[in-house]
Amino acid sequence: MPSSLPNSIHARDVEYLLHAVTNARRHEERGPIIIDRGEGIHVFDDEGRSYIEAMAGLWSVAVGFGEKRLADAAYRQLQKLPYYHSFSHKSNEPAVLLAEALVRISPERLTKVFFTNSGSEANDTAVKLVWYYNNARGLHAKKTFIARQGGYHGITIAAGSLTGLPTNHRDFDLPIIPVKHVTTPHFYRYAQPGESEEAFSTRLAEELEATILEAGPDTIAAFIGEPLMGAGGVIPPPAGYWEKVQAVCRRYDILIVADEVINGFGRLGTMFACEYYGIDPDILVLSKQITSSYQPLAALLISDAIYQAIADNSAKIGTLGHGFTAGAHPVATAVGLENLAIIEENGLVENARAVGEVMQRELRRRFADHPLVGEVRGIGLIAAIELVADKATKARFDPVGKLGLAIFDAGHEHGVIIRAIGDQIAFCPPLIITEAEMIEMLDRFERAFHQATAALA
Ligand code: PLP
Repeated sequence: MPSSLPNSIHARDVEYLLHAVTNARRHEERGPIIIDRGEGIHVFDDEGRSYIEAMAGLWSVAVGFGEKRLADAAYRQLQKLPYYHSFSHKSNEPAVLLAEALVRISPERLTKVFFTNSGSEANDTAVKLVWYYNNARGLHAKKTFIARQGGYHGITIAAGSLTGLPTNHRDFDLPIIPVKHVTTPHFYRYAQPGESEEAFSTRLAEELEATILEAGPDTIAAFIGEPLMGAGGVIPPPAGYWEKVQAVCRRYDILIVADEVINGFGRLGTMFACEYYGIDPDILVLSKQITSSYQPLAALLISDAIYQAIADNSAKIGTLGHGFTAGAHPVATAVGLENLAIIEENGLVENARAVGEVMQRELRRRFADHPLVGEVRGIGLIAAIELVADKATKARFDPVGKLGLAIFDAGHEHGVIIRAIGDQIAFCPPLIITEAEMIEMLDRFERAFHQATAALA
C-alpha cells in the first residue's frame, strides 16, 4: 500500500500540506485520498480506485475531467502569450472575447466584465465596487450589505463577512465589514406551521424591509444572494421569494448582487439561475463552471449605470485603483472561452435540465420516505438530501454531521464522491453526465447510504 510507506505521497501530504476545510488532526490520522487523474465523470486515486465525482470537484467541473479541448486551448495560449494583465490600458484577446461572450449570454442590463481569480476575490471586488460606486454618487453612508444566514460567498475578508455560515466566521474574527444577515429562505426549516411558500416569502421580504428601515435605507448598499443556495445545503428559495426581495430592494435604491458562482453556466437547467428565478441583478458574480475549474477564474458583470458612475469617478480621481496581477489572465480566459463553446455546442444546459429532472425524481423516489430523511430538494443537476434524527419533529442529529460523515466515508468505499454539509448530502455532478451514469451514481450512493444508516442502528 503506497499510503503506508514513510516516503509516500500520502505521508508527505500529511507532513507538508495544510488542507482547506479539513479537521487537521483527523487528517493526520486518516491521511489523504490522492486523486491522480480524471476522465469524464470519474476520478481515480493513486491506489487504482475509481469514483464517480458526484460533486464535480467543488461544484465546478461542468465538462467533466480529461477534456482535451480545454487542455489544448490552454497549451495554445501558453505558447502564444502565457501571461498578461489588464492594468493601465493593456489587454489581451481571450479576455476581451470572453468578456464579450459573457455580456452576450447574461441578463441584459449587464454590460461590463471585471475578471478575478476566485469567487472570493470577485465578491470582495463586488463589495469594493459598490462602495466606490456609492462614494462616486456622494452616498457616503450607503455601505452596509445584506446577506443571508447560510449563504456562502467565499472566505476572504469581505466575502467571508458576507458568508453566513458560523464555521467560516468562528475564530477568524468575521464578519468585519458592515453586513446584516437575514433569515435563510428554507421553507422546510424556517416556515411556520401552516404557512404557504408564498406567505413565507412575504414574511422574509417583510423582514428584509424591516432590517433596511431599522438601519436606515441611506446606509444599506446592496443585497447579495445565491439565487439557489449551494454550500449552505442546496436550498432552492420558496415560491415568490426573489420577486418580493427585488421589489423591496428597488424601493430603497439597494443593489442586487446575484452570486452565481455555483448556479451559473447551466447548473439549474438554464444558463443562469437569474433566468430561472426572474432576477434582474445589478451585479452578477461567476466562477467555477466558467472554466470548469481547469483554470482559476471568476468574473463580475456590472450594469451600465454602475459602470458609468465608476468611469466618471476614475476620471475624477485619476484611476480605478483596484485589480489583480492575474486578473483577465489570457490562459484562464482562453480556457473559459473554449469551455463555454463546449457547453453551447454540446447542449450541456439542456442536458442538465433533462438528466436533472430524472435525478430529482429518482432521489425523491428512493429517499424521500426513508425515516432518516427529512427533505430531498434541488433543481436541475444540483440536489441535497437532509438527514434528520426524527422525521416527525425534524430534529437534527446530535452531534450534527455524524451520519453525514459516515455516509461520506461509505461513499468512498462504494466509488462515489458526495459532499456532506453537516447532515445534508449534496449532489452536483458534471453537466455532461448521462442518464445511465446518473443512475449508476445514485445506485452507488444508495449502497453507501444503507451501509451507513444500518451501522447507526
Ligand atoms: N460564492 C459562491 C456561491 C461559492 O459557492 C463560492 C465557493 O464555493 C464562492 C463564492 C467562493 O469562491 P472561491 O472558492 O473561488 O473563492
